[in-house]
Amino acid sequence: MTRLDTDAEELIGPAECDGPRALVLEAREVPLGGVRGMHVTRVLPHRDLPMVGAWCFLDRFGPQDALMRVEPHPHIGLQTVTWPYVGEVRHRDSLASDVVVRRGQLNLMTSGAGISHSEYSVGNGPVPLDALQLWVALPESARHGAPGFEQHEKLPELALSSPEGGAAGEATVVLGELAEVSSPATVYTPIVGAELRLAPRATARIRLRAEWEHALLGVVGDAVAHTGIDGGEHDVAAERFLYLGIGRDHVDITASDQGALVFLIGGEPFPDEIVMWWNFVARTHDEIVEAREDWESGSARFGHVTGHGDERIPAPPLPAVRLTARRRRI
Ligand code: MN
Repeated sequence: MTRLDTDAEELIGPAECDGPRALVLEAREVPLGGVRGMHVTRVLPHRDLPMVGAWCFLDRFGPQDALMRVEPHPHIGLQTVTWPYVGEVRHRDSLASDVVVRRGQLNLMTSGAGISHSEYSVGNGPVPLDALQLWVALPESARHGAPGFEQHEKLPELALSSPEGGAAGEATVVLGELAEVSSPATVYTPIVGAELRLAPRATARIRLRAEWEHALLGVVGDAVAHTGIDGGEHDVAAERFLYLGIGRDHVDITASDQGALVFLIGGEPFPDEIVMWWNFVARTHDEIVEAREDWESGSARFGHVTGHGDERIPAPPLPAVRLTARRRRI
């Protein structure tokens, strides 16, 4: 994924949440480089909530028919998590990876100090596509390191139970750890990313770590989270994003008659202030300037994406002001 909306504020501050919350945040429509008319909704970064744990970016592209052609572009300081629902995406990168990812599989790309990649839909015409792409900020210990790419075709699942112990659905642990079940994907901070599939009319009790902050994104169907705040129930229907704050050891979610699919993100509050601009996650304005210059000059830092010639997405101009960290407002 690459970004065109660089005029937007991209100044990210540290987590400061001190207790449970139940805040519904609006997703926004955004333009996406190289894809004409593609429906993309962005949940993170939100103007009031820059991060949830180390999660600093959350897009849903689709559902729709589209020809996806995201040409080679760079990343620093992050991991990209691609989790498709419908359709197939071909990923190529500067480590000579060339793979197709589809439903049930995870693509995880770790930029370290620098990587570049492209993302295409399969075929030469519009095809049905629907996927999540998320970014995870790398901690200081990993952000200067080597890039990496991994694809996981089989991820661990666990049964979801109701508060009374009955069957309520299943979950797939995409990244990190949920209820003592761990994904094999490489992570650098305490974190969870999990798909929750609730059976029709079931209530699932999702075990959480009280020292982490969490949020829910509705993907398919209707569901309600029992938050205990402001009347106690909050909608997590498709495209609704509900921030749960910190200090919870569980959340109960009830699905409608059709069942529901909800994506859970969470993790330990991120310790650093980060500065985020275009496809870069850094700590200072000067690091962003240097990464931009390295991309524009064709530096070896970002390599060459396998299977591509000269095509690449140029960096947008920097804003006139110095980039600084922004703190959350909720
Ligand atoms: Mn990308």
